[in-house]
Amino acid sequence: MLKFDPSDLVRADLKELAPYDARVPPHTVKLDANENPHDFPPEVLECIWQEMKQEIKVRAFNRYPDSMAGALRDKLADLWQVDPACIMAGNGSDELILNLMLTFGSGGRVIITTPTFSMYGVHARVAGAAVQEVPRREDFSLDEEVLLREAGLPEIKKIVICNPNNPTGNAVMPDRVAAVLENTGALVVVDEAYGEFGGESCIPLLAQYPNLVVLRTFSKAYSLAGLRVGYLLAPAGIIEQLLKVKQPYNLSIFSQVAARLVLEHLPVFQARVDEILKERESLYEKLAGLPGVKVFPSEANFILFRTPLPANRVYHGLLEGGVLIRNVSGPLLPDFLRVTVGRSGENEFFLAQLKRVLEG
Ligand SMILES: *Cc1c(COP(=O)(O)O)cnc(C)c1O
Repeated sequence: MLKFDPSDLVRADLKELAPYDARVPPHTVKLDANENPHDFPPEVLECIWQEMKQEIKVRAFNRYPDSMAGALRDKLADLWQVDPACIMAGNGSDELILNLMLTFGSGGRVIITTPTFSMYGVHARVAGAAVQEVPRREDFSLDEEVLLREAGLPEIKKIVICNPNNPTGNAVMPDRVAAVLENTGALVVVDEAYGEFGGESCIPLLAQYPNLVVLRTFSKAYSLAGLRVGYLLAPAGIIEQLLKVKQPYNLSIFSQVAARLVLEHLPVFQARVDEILKERESLYEKLAGLPGVKVFPSEANFILFRTPLPANRVYHGLLEGGVLIRNVSGPLLPDFLRVTVGRSGENEFFLAQLKRVLEG
């Protein structure tokens, strides 16, 4: 056999890319991934089992699922009062982010407003798009002067705005997004993964702008991260292009049914969101009360903060106490950390451990 080394064959621009590290170290309290701290509601789970028994008569497991997740799409179209042709479901919004990059970003430049969700940059590079960072201002608001200037350049194919923004927690008003939409020939993607927790949705802008895509997910407010369901809203013409790239059977039968049943029980999930919002305010106050800790206001289900200690020391100190949070420290966020809002007891445990680490 001839000499074979996979690293000789890998695409040149992937050689330097490190795989996403999704390892989860041992812990007792998990506040690192912005998941919903409440387990999926048992009464809704029961409905899903019942519904599956019916579904399986129509769609046996040996057959492929509905490629367009039609029943789920119709429910989402009802919810948002848009045409079903303006909705596309994905295997988590992560898949949709990649498909958007592959369809519209490849070979061009994509603007991301940093610090922001790391997968935009990763998926852009995987798709062969160049990433152009437009750093946010010191208070993490969008730097509109730079953004509007860059947005108008012909080589820009796509602009991604996370709203509310992960990991900073702040939101941008839709009229500011509209200003971007009006000043660019590029596609503008607004990721509303945390839209149920705060900020104002850009979905109403869809009626007015042909270049807007809004992303939503079932992973955060709807306790469904494990089933991988996200969706996007966009003009039908944009979805027509995306269908060229979409995996035909990207969403399993089970995930389609589960997400549809979530939409039939929205008040159950809203009550949990309300509880998380109450906990967020209390966690914010308590964090702000710790000596030397700087906390940033959040419209999402997580809180950004920094302490006088190096972020790594705080992160590992907490982990020794069994608390897993996210170290988001980097050039734009020196010694910053991000904690997901958990259930009351989890937040108290985190605060006690943080106190211990800071006093140590
Ligand atoms: C968590 C998160 C998502 C959700 O991804 P899924 O693939 O739907 O689980 C999307 N965007 C941002 C900014 C996130 O933080």
